[in-house]
Amino acid sequence: MTSERAAIRLQTIRSVPEYNTMNRVGSLDFSTTSSTPPLTEDGKINYEKGEFYTNPPVATCSRKQAVFIIGLILATLLTCSLIIAFVRPSHCGHVEEGLDFHEDVAVTPPPEAIATNGEPFPWNDVRLPDFIVPLRYSVVLHPNLTTLFLRGQMEVVFAVQKETNFIVFHGKDVTLTVVMVKDKNMREIMTTRTLYYPYHQQIYIELKNYLMPGNNYSLALRYEGMVRTDLEGLYISSYKSPGGVKRYLVTTHFQPTSARSAFPCWDEPNYKARFKIGVVRQRNYVALSNMPLDNTEDVSIFWGSGLVQDNFHESVPMSTYLVALVVCDYGRIHEVTKTGVTLSIYAPPHMTSQADFALKAAVKLFDYFQSFFGFSYPLPKLDLISMPDFAAGAMENWGLAVFRESALLMDNNTTSSSAKQRVVLILAHELAHQWYGNLVTMKWWDDLWLSEGFASFAEYIGVHHIFPEWAMMDQFLHSNTMPALRTDALSTSHAVSVTVSDPIEIEAIFDTISYSKGASIFYMLQRVLGEEIMRRGLMLYLERHQFGNANMDDLWQALSLGTLNSSHPVPVKDMMDTWTHQLGYPLVTLRRHGNMIHASQKHFLLVNSSLHSVNSSHKWHVPLSFTTSAAPNIESQIWMRDPLSLRASDINFEIPMNVSWIKANVNASGYYRVNYEPAIWQSLIRVLANQPTTFSPADRAQLIDDAFTLAWAGMLNVTVPLTLSQYLVNETEYLPWSTALYHLRKLDTVLSIRTARRSLHCFVRHLVTPLYSIMGWTTKVPHIQSLLQRELLEAAVYFGLSSAVNEARRLFTQWMSGQVQLPPDIRDIVYSTGIKYGGWTEWDYCWQRYKETNVPDERLNFLRALAASNDPWILQQYLDFAMERNSIRVQDIRKVVESVAQNPVGSLLVWRQLQTRWNMIEVTFGRASFTIGRLILAAVSHFHDPLDLKSVQTFFRNVNVGSGKRSLMQSLELIQANINFLNKNDRQLEQWLNRNSPRC
Ligand SMILES: [Zn+2]
Repeated sequence: MTSERAAIRLQTIRSVPEYNTMNRVGSLDFSTTSSTPPLTEDGKINYEKGEFYTNPPVATCSRKQAVFIIGLILATLLTCSLIIAFVRPSHCGHVEEGLDFHEDVAVTPPPEAIATNGEPFPWNDVRLPDFIVPLRYSVVLHPNLTTLFLRGQMEVVFAVQKETNFIVFHGKDVTLTVVMVKDKNMREIMTTRTLYYPYHQQIYIELKNYLMPGNNYSLALRYEGMVRTDLEGLYISSYKSPGGVKRYLVTTHFQPTSARSAFPCWDEPNYKARFKIGVVRQRNYVALSNMPLDNTEDVSIFWGSGLVQDNFHESVPMSTYLVALVVCDYGRIHEVTKTGVTLSIYAPPHMTSQADFALKAAVKLFDYFQSFFGFSYPLPKLDLISMPDFAAGAMENWGLAVFRESALLMDNNTTSSSAKQRVVLILAHELAHQWYGNLVTMKWWDDLWLSEGFASFAEYIGVHHIFPEWAMMDQFLHSNTMPALRTDALSTSHAVSVTVSDPIEIEAIFDTISYSKGASIFYMLQRVLGEEIMRRGLMLYLERHQFGNANMDDLWQALSLGTLNSSHPVPVKDMMDTWTHQLGYPLVTLRRHGNMIHASQKHFLLVNSSLHSVNSSHKWHVPLSFTTSAAPNIESQIWMRDPLSLRASDINFEIPMNVSWIKANVNASGYYRVNYEPAIWQSLIRVLANQPTTFSPADRAQLIDDAFTLAWAGMLNVTVPLTLSQYLVNETEYLPWSTALYHLRKLDTVLSIRTARRSLHCFVRHLVTPLYSIMGWTTKVPHIQSLLQRELLEAAVYFGLSSAVNEARRLFTQWMSGQVQLPPDIRDIVYSTGIKYGGWTEWDYCWQRYKETNVPDERLNFLRALAASNDPWILQQYLDFAMERNSIRVQDIRKVVESVAQNPVGSLLVWRQLQTRWNMIEVTFGRASFTIGRLILAAVSHFHDPLDLKSVQTFFRNVNVGSGKRSLMQSLELIQANINFLNKNDRQLEQWLNRNSPRC
């Protein structure tokens, strides 16, 4: 299927055969004005936006061009709507267990390398040739916020390493108007033709004479394009002032491959160069870029009346995806760090007071990381800016990091503990990137995990430093290791180090594996090496590769050096290769024979079907840690590898004869699961029941997580995790509770229409009641306690504990009548309960509050709560509001879809909406967007009925989901796992729950 969006992109760049006669920079008239009305986010004409600039807009473009594009969008939308209307999913009753998750998705074969003018495109490789190396860019951009027309000039000095008569570089949706190549003596080298190949987003310039190795040359371009509306590249965003006036701004998001749509460039991370950025703007706005402002000049004569150009200092060498610029009318607060770096936060003027907390935290984190990495931050300033529309949570652009509003701004009086924690974690992540990712960058996207995995690990180290009482490493397990182990149990997972080439493949690996598995194996490595050796190795790595690029082996080498003088040198590369090159992870199984323990390992798969059986050749260097009843507080460690060959293997080891229990993977710091023979499980369950604090909270959580997951995979009787869970009546810690409640809710989802569901609710109510009686709705408890309280209250309401439901409803009524202000930590639970047990009046009241508030966390609270309704009609209205995008921002559509899908009443509504609005979703997010995959996972991965599985397969059979392909395959596999689990355990579950749940 070809989208209308793709069709437009292919046409907006064209080769210009007249280059040879007009290839002089400055030969074109740039001063023509146009009265083309602006486009809104959804492509409609918006006359209000003219208020943004009071002066006449400056552009040679074209009402015709804009009208043509709009017409094309509308025509294609109409066509696709008709197609969708006639292609409905069909249903089929029976699904084989041997489903192939890998071949059920539409694949578009790559086209031949033919340029847009019909000529063969001579360079047929998605990677650029390596014999031309850009050194210095000078880029001037004029984004016109009235017409959305983008005009730019780019000049790059490049080195030639091999004789060549052509240049190939990236460009996307840009039209070159002037091309000129010069040698170092400023003599022009004539170009003979310019070709564009949209499939690889490449431009080819052929020259009359050869460029010689060892020499530098320059390429100067003028070009035109459009300010985008899809949250990629250089795009428009807006916010409303307190007076209700819509204010527009322009921002950038280039990672991974969108710099090329703002300016033609060598858009691969290994082509680091210096950038001198210029931005043309109206006088009453502010422009920001990676570096501080150098000077501002009046450019009315060249660019249009009333315009000035901000010129920024030249940058240090960096990758194109880290270049950034913003034009806005924001306010600013700032502080200076210990080493004299100015750290600022920019936000809409009426929201800068919400940035105080983030600024103070950012300065502390900055000072900490600077000392942790032992390397001075190399830029004179760091700006953090909030953005009303942003696809990701935040982006680490060097010197100008961009954040979603909810990831940076918070009102102290209305923001919950969890939202505050989210702000600090995201800050720490982006600050860690300023060194790890920006200063040293991966050579190619295959090693994206090096940057993202490490930043996802370092954010916890950073926050632990400034808030040691927050139990961050326990939370790390909940937010990283456990989610990664869930995704990585699928045959459709991928190795953290994975071969990717085109933009769609690259976008698809911004996922749980790169971030959370990457972070988890860094954590495991740190436990093996020790914190100080790890830190010294990281410092050495940064020092060796500063302002350059590196790969995994460079890092392993630096980390190994720290262990050479140790009595137990660690073969870091040998170990880590087993964790980075293989997908999945091991299931370690312990069996006891007297005082001998046999530990075996095999690849763990959630669905072990005939088509996707366990790969017996997969083995890992497992640092197997364990404790026993003989010394519960002493951790022992043994490597699961052959001591001579150093190959990963099974092992035997001795324990004292009188030991009553053994527990492996101490504190869950290893990236593996553990199964035990039945007698050992029984001994562990006895300890939990009688003396649960014998194990740390992390160990208790891990026993719960492993037991439930093994039952889901059919490797453990389902009565084991249920029996184990009975100890929760005595549990008082956050991590075991959050882990258990995740699994109990999942169980509730698959039992949604089974008789056992009622018994499950009684069982969970019985478990939560003791702690609920202690904690209740009292607020102002310590941070980690407030997180636990939220988990508990949510569960109490979800599973229908009447005292909790009644109290939440009472609070909602009081709040709605204006009698009380709700405490931040419980307000979203109260909103959800009020909506769940209310009707349209309650829903609409919250909807109006959502539209009024300018506090980011409060907006998220309402977005989640509005999905809690029990009325399908209301939920359908809500989904429609989200898709129409008038009141809900594009970045928040996923939140709405996820929240409604988690509501059993809304689950199938979401799936129907996704099918009927698929075309709109594709247009909005683009195929090369990680959002597509996340929408699919959110909408269908919890299905547990063969009919639904067939429906998903049938719908997507002829749909090209682009970078969502792996997420789709994973969703199919997860559905199959749910079906298998129910088939195997349905009756046993019901019997156990009936027997062990108190009457309620
Ligand atoms: Zn990151």
